[in-house]
Amino acid sequence: MSRDFFSKSFNYEHIDRDIGWRSETISKRANDGLKLSKKKIPSPCPVCENYHEHKFIQKIYGFTYIRCNVCSLVYLKEIPNTEFLKDIYVSNQEEMEKSPGDDLIITDDFNVRMEMISTPKVEFALREAKLKTPKWVDIGCGVGDLVKAATNLGCYAVGYDIDEREILHGQNNSSNIHCIDVNPDNAERYIGDADLISVISVLEHVPNCVELLKMLVKNSKNEAYYLIEVPRYNSISSLVNINFKHQVSRHMLPPNHVMLFSEKSFDTMLGKAGLQRVASWYYGMDINELFGTLLLNAEHSFIETTELKRLMNEFQAMLDRSKLCDEMLVLCKRF
Ligand SMILES: [Zn+2]
Repeated sequence: MSRDFFSKSFNYEHIDRDIGWRSETISKRANDGLKLSKKKIPSPCPVCENYHEHKFIQKIYGFTYIRCNVCSLVYLKEIPNTEFLKDIYVSNQEEMEKSPGDDLIITDDFNVRMEMISTPKVEFALREAKLKTPKWVDIGCGVGDLVKAATNLGCYAVGYDIDEREILHGQNNSSNIHCIDVNPDNAERYIGDADLISVISVLEHVPNCVELLKMLVKNSKNEAYYLIEVPRYNSISSLVNINFKHQVSRHMLPPNHVMLFSEKSFDTMLGKAGLQRVASWYYGMDINELFGTLLLNAEHSFIETTELKRLMNEFQAMLDRSKLCDEMLVLCKRF
């Protein structure tokens, strides 16, 4: 029986994402989205491959999110092809105003993020998998904050990503990460002896998410654990993005987020890869998304909201317990 856990507290003072950041990000993301939307082609449901049965959800920055009638995944009806999408993450995005990793590289908050965001995820996995000092491989490691958190907690941890700038930034912060594209030809070498493989905020970016998971499972040990984080559609953040479609800065953000998962579509994907849940942790940034967007639209309202910051974690915890949160972190193993 899989176990459920709820809420992860977040200190909003420590991460510099104010109204100015939100406003600037929105305008850059919108321009990039519209630019990239010119190169899109029709896509079947990335999880169940159904092509025809779906419902319209919302059009955002030139892309259309639809919901699969079969597995209930919410995904982009048309997307740029896989090679083109990959290029967005390989640092040759001259034509992009804001690349996916920009905020992580430009802001100097590596250690804060590592302690506040990544360390609790590592502790969750070690506790629920009952592992003490595993070999941990992080696929799509970004700047490597999770890898460093795992190293600090006694794991032999290593991370791989295709974004050179992010890798360099992480190496400068002494994270054990490397710029390598883990693919079917080399996967066994990199993950063959891993006790735990993490795929954090990666699957929603790749149209072939099922293939990627299958490839990892095929090339890893039978007893290996997998730690997967994905965005959840059934959340207040989705509701906010759908209602304020011209002010999306994260979550339902095309083409970065090719898809957002429901419980059913996530479990369908796991099943196809031969995996099952061990433990799930529900948390998110919905309250920040909601009030951030409302405040952005009321800049000169003279409504004093300083007290709100103190209450954000409490509000969010209520949503998490109702599974209306925008993220989940799931520990899995083979059936
Ligand atoms: Zn589907």
